[in-house]
Amino acid sequence: MHNPPLPELTVADPELAGLVEAEAARQHASIRLIASENYVSTAVLEASGSVLTNKYSEGYVGRRYYEGQQVVDPIETLAVDRAKSLFGVEHANVQPYSGSPANLAVYLAFAQPGDTVMGLSLPMGGHLTHGWSVSATGRWFRSVRYGLRADTGRIDLDEVRDLARTERPKIIFCGGTAIPRTIDFPAFAEIAREVGAVLVADIAHIAGLIAGGAHPSPVGHAPVISTTTHKTLRGPRGAMLLTDAEHATAIDKAVFPGLQGGPHNHTTAAIAVALREASTPAFRDYAHAVVANARALAEALVERGFDLVTGGTDNHLILIDLTGKDIGGKPAAKALDAAGIELNYNAVPFDKRKPFDPSGIRLGTAAITTRGLTPAHMPVLAGWIDDVVKAAGAGDTATIGRVREQVTELVSGFPMPGFA
Ligand SMILES: *Cc1c(COP(=O)(O)O)cnc(C)c1O
Repeated sequence: MHNPPLPELTVADPELAGLVEAEAARQHASIRLIASENYVSTAVLEASGSVLTNKYSEGYVGRRYYEGQQVVDPIETLAVDRAKSLFGVEHANVQPYSGSPANLAVYLAFAQPGDTVMGLSLPMGGHLTHGWSVSATGRWFRSVRYGLRADTGRIDLDEVRDLARTERPKIIFCGGTAIPRTIDFPAFAEIAREVGAVLVADIAHIAGLIAGGAHPSPVGHAPVISTTTHKTLRGPRGAMLLTDAEHATAIDKAVFPGLQGGPHNHTTAAIAVALREASTPAFRDYAHAVVANARALAEALVERGFDLVTGGTDNHLILIDLTGKDIGGKPAAKALDAAGIELNYNAVPFDKRKPFDPSGIRLGTAAITTRGLTPAHMPVLAGWIDDVVKAAGAGDTATIGRVREQVTELVSGFPMPGFA
């Protein structure tokens, strides 16, 4: 049952309540390996489901456009102060609705339409909002993209430097959605400094690892840091922009009134709760456990003959290249989902297949680590992944059914916040 329970919703809208219950049960029964997902605590769920959703608060603490901010102001102050102290930054804006609007605010703050901007190419692991062509950021700005080295699958910092020198971008984004290795913030900072660009570290995926000391911090290297709050940081869906003092005003003006109206106060409160959780010793342990699980899973997958982009992982994320396996990423992901192992198909660097039918699958260990799985479970999990990928190619539904039962049995021993 969903926890906290939904007695009113069940009466008022049984159809919708049934769907929420079904999703809670689905999350409980699955091995969730989608690298951008997690399970938030029941405390975070309570804050984000609170009456704070009723309140409008355009503006910032002490400078609002509506009355009645006696309670919301201290809530936003808590979130801001906790973000500043957790990440060690001079300024935090906790109002962006999500990661994509947070990145749009960065463009609004530091570039004019048509200006040159730079980011990691989407099929190489960047994000849409780092200047990809179909995104507003690729249509309204002149975006140039750096990529990966073909021999290592790692970011080609020589290319980044050469491109930056010739193209002179206003903004350089580092970070992405499918990068299994540590991001070299000092190297990016040196390049950005040389060409006079604002370096933006988009740490959406790794914010929780940074908060828990399991990945180096961009603070002191990137003057502007963009992050979601709902991936490894394990908070509600939302985002934050963390900056030094010099870039604070431009970011605040860009978020409001530049881009958004009223902040989502229920989300702000839930972010504050998540930041408090993330400042505990237990969360440091969690962040390191996420990485330990990813390493163990990567090793077990390699042992099973899988080809991993860069050969392994430094963080929570693994990218499997199925090129040698006679199966595309999409049918593999669908078969795994049928077996209760949830992940996404993903392009691999220099993919020869189309974006909607690429050669890879992406996995992350943030959610299963919250559930309590440990490195000892990873060889079992890798074995199931191997069995299902082989079964999918052979049309062997019996094996997929067998793994589905084993998955259900394993996860039933690990409680899920939000489900009782
Ligand atoms: C997830 C992500 C975003 C976007 O976040 P949304 O909340 O989905 O808009 C931006 N940048 C990176 C690197 C991400 O991984």
